[in-house]
Amino acid sequence: MPERNLSSIRADVDALPVYSDHEHHLPDSFFTEGMSLDKSLSRTYVAWTGFVPDSGPASRAALLDNVRYNSYFVWYERGLQRMHGITEPLTMENWEYISGIVSKNHRQNPDLHWQALLNNGYERLIQDAYWNPGDDMGHPEAFVPTFRIDKFLYGYHPDQVAPDDIYPWELYGFEGGTLDDYIACLRETVKRRHAAGLVAALKCAEAYNRRLDFDQDDRAAAEAAFGRPPELVSSEARRLFSNYVFNRCCELAAELQVPFQIHTGLGHLGGSNPMLLLPVLERHADTRFVLFHTGYPWIAEAAGLAHNYANVISSLTWTATISTTTAVRALQELLDVARSVNRITWGSDCWVPEESIGAQLAWRHVVAQALTERYEQGTLRAADVQPLACKLLFENNRNIYGAID
Ligand SMILES: [Zn+2]
Repeated sequence: MPERNLSSIRADVDALPVYSDHEHHLPDSFFTEGMSLDKSLSRTYVAWTGFVPDSGPASRAALLDNVRYNSYFVWYERGLQRMHGITEPLTMENWEYISGIVSKNHRQNPDLHWQALLNNGYERLIQDAYWNPGDDMGHPEAFVPTFRIDKFLYGYHPDQVAPDDIYPWELYGFEGGTLDDYIACLRETVKRRHAAGLVAALKCAEAYNRRLDFDQDDRAAAEAAFGRPPELVSSEARRLFSNYVFNRCCELAAELQVPFQIHTGLGHLGGSNPMLLLPVLERHADTRFVLFHTGYPWIAEAAGLAHNYANVISSLTWTATISTTTAVRALQELLDVARSVNRITWGSDCWVPEESIGAQLAWRHVVAQALTERYEQGTLRAADVQPLACKLLFENNRNIYGAID
């Protein structure tokens, strides 16, 4: 085996396919109606910084001035360049020119938005269409759905709305009955889709809306809330109802033998520390939990859970673009402590292909960097570089979510 270095390891990593465990790819209509650079940027993490271009020069200049060294922007720009064949960096002077290329490319090929993913290294992406849970966006060649269960956590009454303006009873055709009937509706909905090959995993992102302390069942409280008009149900009663439905979802994931993906870290920072899930991991020992985002910023806590619990899969989804430097450290720590190297995964977690492709470049960068450090420190043999890179880029996700047909 010849001597290895960063550039030879990078070359190996760059040649491998990538499987993303998490995506929110937008519907066709977003990309076929007046696509532009500003529109693409408006649905990226770059926009989460508060700097959103509005087609005017002042907003574009403010964005470039404030966030051009931020991880989100760095990788978005790389993805934009890769996808659209642009070599120069984005500046105020070339903004309109580059936006014109983006518009033209999407206009000339309405399928570009998903085909570009497959043409730029992705072999498959797990899609979380939270606005229409379980949707594969009509592109099964690229996407396999995870089923976002969040809406069900709100359905104690037909008038109770869930995030994204969805009324769970209406969405799932539940016409009323007992709490047990409601749970039966949840189970049937998921099982029907699962039988059709449309549930690669369950997903919960309630860390944006509540604390992750999903306690054990309080059946009496869940029954008391069920069927009551929203104005008569306290926030604590809603939380107890939500706990009850969440526990049923954990059981269903085990029954169907699909992993349960849980957003940890960021979101609602006051309650998203992954350590809050510790009782859930113990209560549902037969359920495999994918803890997303390595609990950023609680990386060590997330790694500690991967060390102690065999039912934890640690995912660096989004972590590589939140902070590239942290992602290298997080990957190193997980490689050191996780109970199995086969339970470390990644996903891009993006809405538009320019950013998905950039996120994938970030992940390749993180893997190459981490493996090179280990090789240079003498803790990774040259012959083990390639097999480990394969696990991290696609093999682990294939084994966890299903291989490519
Ligand atoms: Zn996400």
